[in-house]
Amino acid sequence: MKKLSVVIPVYNESASLPKLFERTFPALDKLNRPYEIIFVNDGSKDDSIKQLKEMYEKRKDVVKIIDFNGNFGQHMAIVAGFTKVTGDVVVTMDADLQNPPEEIEKMLAEFDKGHDVVGTIRAKRDDPFFRKFASKIVNIVTNKITGLKIHDYGCMLRAYDRRITDIIAQSEEATTFIPAFAQKFAVNPIEIEISHSKRMEGESKYSFFRLVSLNFDLMTSFSLVPLQFITISGMVISGLSFLLASYLIAMRIIYGASADDTNGVFTLFAILFFLIGFMISAIGITGEYIGRLFKEVRKRPKFVIKEEYGI
Ligand code: UDP
Ligand code: MG
Repeated sequence: MKKLSVVIPVYNESASLPKLFERTFPALDKLNRPYEIIFVNDGSKDDSIKQLKEMYEKRKDVVKIIDFNGNFGQHMAIVAGFTKVTGDVVVTMDADLQNPPEEIEKMLAEFDKGHDVVGTIRAKRDDPFFRKFASKIVNIVTNKITGLKIHDYGCMLRAYDRRITDIIAQSEEATTFIPAFAQKFAVNPIEIEISHSKRMEGESKYSFFRLVSLNFDLMTSFSLVPLQFITISGMVISGLSFLLASYLIAMRIIYGASADDTNGVFTLFAILFFLIGFMISAIGITGEYIGRLFKEVRKRPKFVIKEEYGI
């Protein structure tokens, strides 16, 4: 029987942990296969680590803990977990129980059929309307620019073959987005629907700005299309303004000064503002790439582990 490793990033989840333990252990015990759970404490400021350690004392047979020396983000926490897994199939899961651990059984069934990545789609996603709407757009745009085909980038309850998680663990990238990374290296991926519920305890760890930044991580890590889009738009715009200029010059020559009435001034302003807006966003997008390039060049450690338990 193939061994299962479950990686759970934990950031200020003390309110969710008791319920998480209560449901996850029975769900995994009943699978009748060897397993381990690696909790990665991502610099929680509440008593999450205390609760994790208590659980470790109780279930040393299956619990392992990586305790970070600060907050390095959900995806880095998962990468850290990937560097320590010992199973053949690796499942990532959130600590807040929005994705039920009971669904792992269904995912493993697909894995056993020979799929190396089992992606998931949140059926009847129970989140605020604005987040669902934003996700829809993000999913469509991201698929377009990355060339990947993932229906739900946000759902982290996923199963990966150990070969895939090893590739991710060995990668040197300072910014990453796990589901997209795995999809890129998957040979035989599949997506299944799983249930989803509201966050019961605590609140989302993603503010609006963190979500935007996460989506830029996703975009810049997997595609150069935005840069190419800027270059091509720049060419098209300069081509068009060349035509416009030629037209204006021709009119001036043919009709003389009378062609120069003030009516055109506002049209020019409109064009100018459009161009300025376009240039600022072009610089911004370029900046997103440069900023991440800078992060890579600095080569700071991706995460720092303070302590490990059971590893
Ligand atoms: N998380 C983390 N580090 C962070 C932010 C989040 O380890 O900096 C964990 C968090 O504890 C949870 C998971 O990542 O287990 C997903 O976070 P959350 O539920 O807040 O995200 P949402 O469901 O709102 O997208
Ligand atoms: Mg959540």
